[in-house]
Amino acid sequence: MSHLPNEPEFQQAVSELVSCLENSKLFKVNPDLRRCLDVVQVPERVIQFRVVWENDKGELQLNRGYRVQFNSTLGPYKGGLRFHPTVNLSILKFLGFEQIFKNALTGLSMGGGKGGCDFDPKGKSDAEIRRFCESFMRELSRHIGPNVDVPAGDIGVGGREVGYMFGAYKKYRNAWEGVLTGKGFDFGGSHIRPEATGYGLVYYVAHMIKYATAGKESFEGKTVSVSGSGNVAQFAARKVIELGGKVVTFSDSQGALIKESGFTNEDIDAIAEIKLKRKSLVDLLSEHSELKSSTKFLKGERPWKHAKVDVALPSATQNEVNKEDADALVAGGCRFIAEGSNMGCDLDAIAVFEKSRLDANLQNGGCWYGPGKASNCGGVAVSGLEMAQNSQRIHWSPEEVDSKLATIMKECFHNCVQTAIEYADENVEYHTDKHATGRYPSLVQGANIA
Ligand code: GLU
Repeated sequence: MSHLPNEPEFQQAVSELVSCLENSKLFKVNPDLRRCLDVVQVPERVIQFRVVWENDKGELQLNRGYRVQFNSTLGPYKGGLRFHPTVNLSILKFLGFEQIFKNALTGLSMGGGKGGCDFDPKGKSDAEIRRFCESFMRELSRHIGPNVDVPAGDIGVGGREVGYMFGAYKKYRNAWEGVLTGKGFDFGGSHIRPEATGYGLVYYVAHMIKYATAGKESFEGKTVSVSGSGNVAQFAARKVIELGGKVVTFSDSQGALIKESGFTNEDIDAIAEIKLKRKSLVDLLSEHSELKSSTKFLKGERPWKHAKVDVALPSATQNEVNKEDADALVAGGCRFIAEGSNMGCDLDAIAVFEKSRLDANLQNGGCWYGPGKASNCGGVAVSGLEMAQNSQRIHWSPEEVDSKLATIMKECFHNCVQTAIEYADENVEYHTDKHATGRYPSLVQGANIA
């Protein structure tokens, strides 16, 4: 029997990568790389620690904190902190593993890491959150630094938590260092960081659409399903609307919100307000009666089977799209899916999307799949830009950061396509045109990949 603990999420993330690479030309051309794949699966360091803090009643509370310093080949460990009751080492190892490749795809000098705690911020007062964050950072501050490891936010860790932790780090280390990203703009944060993951996701998908249709189509007129209702979902939706698309769904842990006529920016303001109060989307309809006639809330449901869409953007959490959801999306005519969340689709769902592409002979049909480590790298990319601004003690304008983000997402997309073409899986039978060189044969010639 294996002496290793059961780590389902981590094993899934590794399997996803291994299954893409094992029959690739990459390993044929360079068999030594196979061994590197074994090495990269083991974190350089895992730190586990106790977090003891006091609640408002003066009672002692106990949580488990972690930081997985996965890989520092390309730069300091970089990746978020997740505060959620489900957090465990399997989840943080999967997230840290994804982060290695995601950070590499930004083209910036960042290694991969992830951390967090099984602390539940829901229902806690501001003072409790602050005491918890200070206690968490009292231990974590010994292990991080601007050239060592630079954490940021993730689920359960937003600007408020980053602010408390940054203040605590500054106090314990007596140093102002750009050691957390996602800081408030007034104390060293970057413009566009809150928007970055969502905007970046949409920039990435815009390139998918353009490439797949040889420049004939864009977000204009597309119907889009978004899941989640946090930062990533909200800003992805706003960008889709700006580009002429229609967003018809959101969701949270309680269920799915559907508006067939399309959410407006004002609706998204209302969602942001509800989420800031840490309430559920179900409360939106009681607090905003004007939405009642146009919008429905489906308790316990995910959005995928409830709206016919061209594009799906899972932006909530891992494994939020399974085989059944994927079948429904493909059957409903969805042509593009890209993950705003990390590992949003499970392995069976990915197989459905890939099969749909093969069934369409890799022509324009089927559903194109954008994996999170590419499509959601915009968040950590702007974190990298925040580090660069902090090092230089300057601030770039929102336009400057947004244009750098757009360029990073474009280069990330084309890097992915070119790599797929160069190292295509030799076991896949391509239905070709004789000039084709790679994985998307019939599309390579017509598409503008400049
Ligand atoms: N948590 C985000 C991610 O999954 C951002 C990490 C960061 O900015 O370091 O990529």
